[in-house]
Amino acid sequence: MSSRAGVVVTGTEVLTGRVVDRNGPWLAEQLRMLGVDIAHILVVGDRPADLREALTFLTGLGLDLVLTSGGLGPTADDLTAELVGDFQGRPSALDTELEEHIGGIVARFSAGRGWRLDPEATAAGTRKQARVPAGATVIAPVGTAPGLVVPPPPDRGGPPIVVLPGPPRELQGMWPTVVADPLVQAALRGRTELRQRTIRLWGTPESELAATLRAQGDQLAGLEITTCLRDGELEIVTRFAPPAQDAYDAFAGVLGSVYAETMFSPDGRTVDDAVAAALLAGGLTIATAESCTGVLLAARLTERPGSSAYVAGGVVSYSNEVKERELGVPAELIERVGAVSEEVAEAMAAGVRKRLGTDVGVGITGIAGPDGGTRDKPVGLVHLCVQDATHTIARRIVLPGNRADVRKRAVVVAMHLLRQLLGG
Ligand code: ATP
Ligand code: MG
Repeated sequence: MSSRAGVVVTGTEVLTGRVVDRNGPWLAEQLRMLGVDIAHILVVGDRPADLREALTFLTGLGLDLVLTSGGLGPTADDLTAELVGDFQGRPSALDTELEEHIGGIVARFSAGRGWRLDPEATAAGTRKQARVPAGATVIAPVGTAPGLVVPPPPDRGGPPIVVLPGPPRELQGMWPTVVADPLVQAALRGRTELRQRTIRLWGTPESELAATLRAQGDQLAGLEITTCLRDGELEIVTRFAPPAQDAYDAFAGVLGSVYAETMFSPDGRTVDDAVAAALLAGGLTIATAESCTGVLLAARLTERPGSSAYVAGGVVSYSNEVKERELGVPAELIERVGAVSEEVAEAMAAGVRKRLGTDVGVGITGIAGPDGGTRDKPVGLVHLCVQDATHTIARRIVLPGNRADVRKRAVVVAMHLLRQLLGG
């Protein structure tokens, strides 16, 4: 049995969706790598009663560890530290050494920015952040707020509660100290390694995979398999304890033979990894000519550091004039077959290759909607073309979803066409 943990993410901005939670998933992944199973991630607003209720729920489950994020700032709505202390039956008191330490950080921080702070308000904020529950361990601040490891109540059992700041950079910076804490170590002692492997398919429907999984039946014992369809990629994530390694290898073998055509990642590598590796290995350069996707493919190709080794540039050829003038797409061709057509996509790919002098060129033209569709050329229709010196792959596809979905998915399709082109 592995250890189990729960997380409470606090913050009205997260609850209302103004800020997307980055702490819950990050902590879940860190804990998983330590062999700790995550039971729940709860999101609560900055309301004391809601936080208390979440802690009551999680500590009542017999978990080994509970963690919170957020609400450690100097303002009145930041109430996590004191509340967790009270919850654990450990009232807070001012730690004067910590107060001095935080005071120093705040002074340096504001001096660096040229701020002049109201000394009284600053001191009050610092005093609040330096209050520590009885018996708690202080984790040195990465920003201004210290983290805490608060032991269970002195008079009854329960998990320790780790209190972490909301800003992801601060929370992540504290993590090594959290993991090294003796109380946290003790809580995680029962852990067994939990392995996780990812396989990705392109072009296999989820229903087909479901049938394969059903057919495997008992052979999958000991494997926790989750499948998820993301922008057309089918992701299969399997978690298992080490004794089930043989069962996993057999399962991966079955997938490898049944889906030999569509399995582009047997080992968790992304399509971006594959395209970057192929371009680098071949010493190739690439240029993009995008219409309906604007700059999205160029942005994706340049996301990774070091992409200047192969990305030359791109042309945002949204209008017909730019397609003609910058890419050399014949006006007559556009007139005859329309801007959204296989011929124009190919002329864009060839044109940008020539114009920028690269080995590989990509052309994307389509109707992202919501308007502009016809019976022959509906909204979601996208023509793509990838080309190098010897090969051309063209693809016509009608993508579902709204404008943003169509644009995003067209880029994914382009990435997979590139992978196919470069993979031979
Ligand atoms: P501060 O001293 O900055 O107030 P804090 O510990 O009180 O620290 P919060 O007030 O909860 O943290 O959050 C501060 C900011 O950090 C938020 O406005 C938000 O931008 C970011 N943040 C907080 N929680 C999360 C989260 N779960 N995911 C992503 N960002 C977050
Ligand atoms: Mg705050």
